[in-house]
Parts: sequence; C-alpha cells; structure tokens
Amino acid sequence: MDSFASRIDAIKAAHLYRKLRTLSTPQGREVVIDGQRVLLFSSNSYLGLNTNGHICREAIRAVEEFGVGSGGSRLVTGNMTPHMRLEAAVAEFKGSEAALAFTSGYTANVGVISSLCHKDTVIFSDALNHASIIDGCRLARGLTAVYAHNDMDDLLQRVRHLRPRQGFIVTDSVFSMDGDIARLPDLASIARTYGLTLVVDDAHATGVLGATGRGSLEHFGLSHDDVPVVTGTLSKAVPSEGGFVCGSSSLCDLIRNTARSFIFTTAPSPSTAATAAAGLEYIAAHPELVARLQGNVAYFVKKLGRIGMDVQGQSPIIPIMVGDEEKAAQAADALLALGVFAPCIRYPTVPKGMARLRLTVMAAHTREDLDYAAICLEKALAAV
Ligand code: PMP
Repeated sequence: MDSFASRIDAIKAAHLYRKLRTLSTPQGREVVIDGQRVLLFSSNSYLGLNTNGHICREAIRAVEEFGVGSGGSRLVTGNMTPHMRLEAAVAEFKGSEAALAFTSGYTANVGVISSLCHKDTVIFSDALNHASIIDGCRLARGLTAVYAHNDMDDLLQRVRHLRPRQGFIVTDSVFSMDGDIARLPDLASIARTYGLTLVVDDAHATGVLGATGRGSLEHFGLSHDDVPVVTGTLSKAVPSEGGFVCGSSSLCDLIRNTARSFIFTTAPSPSTAATAAAGLEYIAAHPELVARLQGNVAYFVKKLGRIGMDVQGQSPIIPIMVGDEEKAAQAADALLALGVFAPCIRYPTVPKGMARLRLTVMAAHTREDLDYAAICLEKALAAV
C-alpha cells in the first residue's frame, strides 16, 4: 500500500498530480464546477449541443422505445436499429460508402489500426498523434516509424529509407493538444506515390472543419480515395459518446470481422447511438452553427492577438504555452479564480516542460464571453 502512496507523492512533487473536478450543471458555455459558476473554456462540445432540445428529445424517445443497455456485443445480440441508423448517419455525414460504429473514439483507433496493420506492415505515425493511435500502433506489433510533427521532409526520408511492401500513414487531422491541422494534401500525395494507405483521425474536425462541418476532407477538398480510412469520435461536436471508422464497404466489413475492440465489447446503449445519429443529422441541417463556431474562433484569435498573444487559431483548440508544470497549474488556478475554466495540460499528455493552458472555443460562447476570457487570460498569465 505504501508504494501506491509514495508513487502519488512523487507525482505531486513533480507538479503532475491531477484531480477530478465535478460539474453539477449540463455542459454549456457556463457551468457550475465544484460549486463555482464559471465560463467553460475547455469543453470538446464545440457546437454546444448537449442541451439541444431536438437531440435530447430523440435520446428520450430512444430510451422509451429501446430501454437502457444493449445487452450484448454487436455481433451477438447487441445490434439494434439505432446502431444501424447511426452507421448510416455517419456514412451520410462523412460522404463515405460505409461506416462502422465503436463504443468510443479510443476503441475505434485501437481496433482499426491493430486490425489493418500487423507484424509485416510499417506504420508512419506523427509524433503528436493521440494516445489511442499510439496504443493502436503498439497493439499492431509491427514497425512504427514516428516522424517529426507535421514534417513532410522527415516523413519522406523515413518512407524512402524503409520502403515497406505494405505501409500506412496515420495522423490526427486536428491535433488535440496543439490545435493545428495535419498537412493532409501532402500526406495524401506521399501515400499515393509510395503506395501507402492514409488513415486520418477526424475526432476534433467532425462538426468543426469545412464549410458544413464534415471534417478535414471537406476543409481540404479531398475525397475518400485520397484518405481511404477516416476515424473519429461522437463525443465532441457530436453530443454523445462513441467512435467510428468510415470508408469503403470492404474496409468496414474487414474491421467488423477483425477488430478486437469492436468484437469483444458490449454494443453502445441504443439511446447513445440514437443520440449520436440525431446529433449528426442536426449538424447537417444547421451549417450556420459551424459558421458560428468558426466565426467565434476567428474573433477570439484576433482578440488574443491584440493583447500580444500569438496564437494560430487553425481550430477551436487554442493552446497557451507556459512550459513549466508548476506555473501552468498556477495560471489555471488563477484563471479559475477569475471565473474561467480551462485546466492546464501537462506530461504525459504533452512532453515534459511543455505544459500549457488549453482553451477551446464553442459556438455557444457569446462575444462578451470571448472578451472576458481574453482579459482574464492576460491577468492569469501576468500573475505567474
Ligand atoms: N482521437 C483524438 C484526436 C482525441 O482527442 C480523442 C479524445 N480526446 C480520441 C481520439 C478518443 O475519443 P473518445 O473520447 O471518443 O474515446
């Protein structure tokens, strides 16, 4: 028992201890967290749809019609009409031939990568890819060549050196802790030239990038021929839980039959699947929400620029670099004391010495919210 406590002491001494904070209100622009009413600037609910009346009614209707819990795995007894509706909705939204739903984005990445790749394949993986991609690569048990973040020269050098008979390039489209966007047209061209398959995780791009929020392919004008494997989550702009892969029917069929994280787990509850389907359908019918989010991001980035903060603003994820772990934690506390919640992100989520505040903009924020957050951020950073 003592060794558990001493490990925790070591985590605390390194300023890397994390504790849970509890929201007692729904996810929205303003929340009550540990009893304090604050503006929320760290949610992945980019479109602010968690309390949307239409989507909530669909969720309730699904509970009334199908009950709670799915009672089995998809391939045994757990597959119900809402799961099939969800997969049709994902394929429709993402413009793919087919889609397959998972219980989370994490299990989607782990399952897809480990079932497509094996000990004789080489995976070229961006250095800043999400943990679920890293874990998928580990499970694939082949060679993973990590290339420097978004660095096409480094990737090309590794591809030319290794010349795999079968290989994959795997990348986040929007990087979750830096908010920048992968150079997908370049990646697609390298994949084509060297006969590699491009796999893109659209977790933070779905409902966010592109004129109608369809994601990174819409943003860059690419097709599913350029990016044959797209994964994602249904828990960020889409207000539910779950993950997906989309692409050709044969891709989805193969993964349905081989991905262990699809086969050996209980199907999502029917109401979760129905909520995700309703969320996708709602976003498709309301492109103005996506435009509002994109407008808020542009406004906030300009605002931060005016107070001397140089941020990229390629997506709603705005990292404010602090570096030192202790200072980043203090800055987050100072920000919270001013009424803005954006926790600090530290190792192991980001490398040591690269701690940061990670702010996220939502469509639900008002211009006043954005102004207030910018002022508070300036004060909180000055305090540390
Ligand atoms: N991919 C990326 C890029 C993510 O940021 C996340 C979650 N934060 C996931 C996958 C996993 O998605 P989920 O939360 O649905 O498991």
